[in-house]
Amino acid sequence: MSCRFELDHYREILAAVRSGGYTFATFDQPFEAGTVILRHDVDLSLDAALTMAELEAEEGATATYFLMTRSEFYNLDSPSGHVALAHLRELGHRVGLHAVWPHVDRDERFDSVLAWHNPDPEYMREEVDGLVNVMQPPWAEIYRSDSNQRWRQGCPHEELAGGSFERLQLLTHPEIWAYPGSTMRETMLAMLDAERARRLEQLAADRIDLS
Ligand SMILES: [Zn+2]
Ligand SMILES: [Zn+2]
Repeated sequence: MSCRFELDHYREILAAVRSGGYTFATFDQPFEAGTVILRHDVDLSLDAALTMAELEAEEGATATYFLMTRSEFYNLDSPSGHVALAHLRELGHRVGLHAVWPHVDRDERFDSVLAWHNPDPEYMREEVDGLVNVMQPPWAEIYRSDSNQRWRQGCPHEELAGGSFERLQLLTHPEIWAYPGSTMRETMLAMLDAERARRLEQLAADRIDLS
């Protein structure tokens, strides 16, 4: 099995969760032994989030998607933002706030759970009034993340399949997996190509003359 950052391997990781005897859990219940919480920080692309969300729904997995209200890259208040949020809910996933320090934009779109975007160590594990902070104990005691296409402790699929985690919070970024590329740069360039095509469609829909 090759540990590429591609959807096929993400599907294999989900299969490993199941063959390791784990069940999928969310942040609104106690973090029990034998469970895996799938967390996604959506930093760049709602389309990538939806691609991953649909794959998970096919595989019977529930995840928690953390969406930004202050992103440079997407607008949750736009029509496509509304569609994305509704579709994540329809697929049975949870939606939390991916907050930019120190702003906590709580509203009814989000469950009572927060993940800071690119947090500094000083506040990363601080209590946030009325919300679960996903980096607080017990949530992040056993934790793996795919940041910039690097697993610091290796891809977790083998340990999952072998049942060696007591429980796990697994953070993955959808845009890393949804677009092709063997380096982060290649993957980001593929994302920008898709984005360009999407922008051209949006311009046409906005009655811009592209002839
Ligand atoms: Zn792997
Ligand atoms: Zn982030």
